[in-house]
Amino acid sequence: MGKASKDKRDIYYRKAKEEGWRARSAFKLLQIDQEFNIFHGVKRVVDLCAAPGSWSQVLSRNLYVPAKQYPDCKEGDLPLIVAIDLQPMAPIEGVLQVQGDITNARTAEVVIRHFDGCKADLVVCDGAPDVTGLHDMDEFVQSQLILAALTIVTHVLKVGGKFVAKIFRGKDTSLLYCQLKLFFSQVTFAKPKSSRNSSIEAFAVCENYSPPEGFKEKDLYHLLEKVGTPSGADDLDCRSGWLEGPNKVYIPFLACGDLSGYDSDRSYPLPSTEGGSYQSLDPVQPPIAPPYKTALEMKKVASHGIGADISKLSLDS
Ligand code: SAM
Repeated sequence: MGKASKDKRDIYYRKAKEEGWRARSAFKLLQIDQEFNIFHGVKRVVDLCAAPGSWSQVLSRNLYVPAKQYPDCKEGDLPLIVAIDLQPMAPIEGVLQVQGDITNARTAEVVIRHFDGCKADLVVCDGAPDVTGLHDMDEFVQSQLILAALTIVTHVLKVGGKFVAKIFRGKDTSLLYCQLKLFFSQVTFAKPKSSRNSSIEAFAVCENYSPPEGFKEKDLYHLLEKVGTPSGADDLDCRSGWLEGPNKVYIPFLACGDLSGYDSDRSYPLPSTEGGSYQSLDPVQPPIAPPYKTALEMKKVASHGIGADISKLSLDS
């Protein structure tokens, strides 16, 4: 698909370039905020799986930049935004970057160190594995990423804080809902208008972090395993068993964003330009070191027929 054609078919892709966002995902976070007011009163935030950085840009533009413009603002009063990803990303004003794997305990330690004993008001996670197209498998890997994010949440989020995480809708959605509900008094699954209907993604918006009494971070997985199993009912004050029979949970999906706004599943005509043909804009910030870079280089070598033995090229190079 050419760039102009993609601009026509994907209004949010075009708008992202026009408004200076690195990815169309920026609109998802903005639409979640429109519905849930998640940025209200936020001074410290963690952006998990942040590259190429459009959510970090949204956080910077909504939290850091306005605070900096405040006449009496001192350095220590500025919001703290810590962004983590496996991939490096180009700098963003007011965003501290950590390159690391969120499933690794050391990454959580680095994040905690940045907060210097203070807790975060908000943790967001737009993490996604490389999808295989096998829905059960993709949903499983995605849920592992959310649990890694939840581990970090239990270490860095303040009581009363908020957590937003990308989920894949599937057969285990109610299990995930119940697991999150153990830690947050309010959990809503939201589908922003900028997220296509054809996509299985949605977002868990978790409000009012309130871990069970006596909860210890090291017991997280033990606790999660009990959700939905009859044997866990006693320990969990009857919170489990929600998944079966008349207690089965039906999870509402809330559409968010201006419902009369752009529809991500529709094509829109390209804007007319004065006297000339439509010029598609370049992406705002291409990824610095995307995982597909090596594959592209290998393809180039192969198509130029240089005779390189592709099987000997390391994918890690
Ligand atoms: N929110 C980002 C934005 O607005 O630009 C887009 C995030 S992109 C959909 C998903 C990201 O998850 C990728 O950059 C990928 O590197 C990251 N990711 C996947 N697994 C990860 C892991 N285990 N640790 C850290 N980052 C991970």
